[in-house]
Amino acid sequence: MLHRARPERDACPGALRVHEAADGGLARIRVPGGVLTPSQVRAIAAAAALGDGGVELTSRANVQVRGLPAGAELELAARLRAAGLLPSATHERVRNIIGSPSADGRELVDVRAVTGELDAALCATPSLAALPGRFLFAVDDGSADVISLGADVGLLAERAGTLALVLAGVDSGVRATPQQAAGVAIAAAEAFLAEKAAQGRSAWRLAELDDGARRITGRLSATFDVVPAEPRPLPSNRQSTHAQVGRVDRRDGTAAVVAGAPLGLLSRDQLDIITAASDAAGELRLTPWRTVVLPGLRPDEAGRWMSDLGARGLLVDPSSAGVGVTACTGRPGCAKARADVREDARRTLQAPAGGALPVHWSGCERRCGRPQGRVVEVLATGAGYEVGLDEETRASEADADQVSAALVAARRKV
Ligand code: SF4
Repeated sequence: MLHRARPERDACPGALRVHEAADGGLARIRVPGGVLTPSQVRAIAAAAALGDGGVELTSRANVQVRGLPAGAELELAARLRAAGLLPSATHERVRNIIGSPSADGRELVDVRAVTGELDAALCATPSLAALPGRFLFAVDDGSADVISLGADVGLLAERAGTLALVLAGVDSGVRATPQQAAGVAIAAAEAFLAEKAAQGRSAWRLAELDDGARRITGRLSATFDVVPAEPRPLPSNRQSTHAQVGRVDRRDGTAAVVAGAPLGLLSRDQLDIITAASDAAGELRLTPWRTVVLPGLRPDEAGRWMSDLGARGLLVDPSSAGVGVTACTGRPGCAKARADVREDARRTLQAPAGGALPVHWSGCERRCGRPQGRVVEVLATGAGYEVGLDEETRASEADADQVSAALVAARRKV
């Protein structure tokens, strides 16, 4: 197996380690499980105002603010800390935990509780400050929506009261109760660091280790009281999660509204209406599909929030052209970019929506922010764009207008 030589430290930005981008400072704020209280939504909007006023939603349901002037870091950190969004200075970049956003309230386990315990245990384990910034945890409520997103350590609800430990997409055979689940995930992350040291690797991801999943399972069974089970193929979620926007009636009699951020961006104006809606809902959940979920609305109010959010340009209609379309920063914010991909992507959104597959625009081969799984890629070449589902179907297209037609065809290849 070939291994890329990795620098020991990754370059992932954080709230304290601000990246100097071409358009100013870029800070990434981790939101474990994607769950925010209304006051935290307000704090993020205030933090964004230190920069360009908007926020970017990431494919790990985190938030980025950009355009920060030099010297804004201290004020940013103070605001986040006061809102409970920066509980640990040492672990802030390793709090990468995605959780099922469960818009319908039918989850098999309380994902928010498990995620909260995992986050607290992670921050309380000094050795785990050394995890790479790319290392990812996932807590899946049984709907198989986030377990398929390539987490290093995943917890998948198998039935009420039982979660399976999934390592780099493979069922380990280890089972845990919801009360044990956070401890098992922490032990797996510690075993990753131990195995990485034993192999002398600078790996950032579990799959980069030789036989990583099996060796970590072995370490766990030697040191941790786990319940074994026959490993099973993981369930797959065939639904297009990126396209799930609109109203959802919840089991508890409330309603949820799911709204998409166009190209993964929320403007100051859109943050204002989301803040007001989260007050009514009681919380906000960010999803890895660059949508936001407002879960606890009164059924008679959900329609009004849908139209208010839609009036500010948020995507609440599944047939909207922007649903499932994302883009990296591109020019002028990124010095590596070959094109202003966001502007070009916006031009194609004037055309009708074109099929079920998500689309990601990239300004160079690094493909920052590309969603996991099958994605129609639009890659800037310097002379135009290449469009396609994979290397074989990718075709050269001259300009953004010609890209539109190619996109419609490629997105239908489900
Ligand atoms: S994919 Fe390339 S152009 Fe786009 S943000 Fe990443 S480095 Fe910059």
